Amino acid sequence: MYDDNNIFAKILRGEIPCNKVYEDDATFVFMDIMPRSSGHCLVIPKSPARDIYDCDEAALAAVMKTTKKIAIASKKAFDADGITVQQFNESAGGQVVFHLHVHVIPRFEGVKLRPHSGDIEAANMLVENADKLIAALS
Ligand code: 5GP
Repeated sequence: MYDDNNIFAKILRGEIPCNKVYEDDATFVFMDIMPRSSGHCLVIPKSPARDIYDCDEAALAAVMKTTKKIAIASKKAFDADGITVQQFNESAGGQVVFHLHVHVIPRFEGVKLRPHSGDIEAANMLVENADKLIAALS
């Protein structure tokens, strides 16, 4: 069952802050506060969905359309060698926040991902990376 008080629902309602990168009618994109690589951001549907099982197909398609847009922008913004796209379902699947989201993570040859839910990124770095993505999208 979808919990309306999850952290991403609160971000969507503007109840807690985030570093916004992009939004359209169906999706919202913001920086991951504990990035596994600098520039790591998250794509979410605006409509409530706990995970891939209960997500409306049109919302999921919109999320993937935005994910492609952001992956291209991320490669450009960070001059990345590659992009990792991840989506986790249920605790056993690695999910921590129960509003469906897709991770878009810039990758560099020979550089391993940092731990999942590791250190909180410096606020100025989150702003800088969001600005780079916004510029690459325009
Ligand atoms: P997952 O649920 O797929 O395991 O990952 C949840 C992601 O949300 C993690 O990468 C974590 O760093 C990120 N995250 C958790 N809490 C917050 C938050 O309050 N703000 C932002 N921007 N990201 C968060």
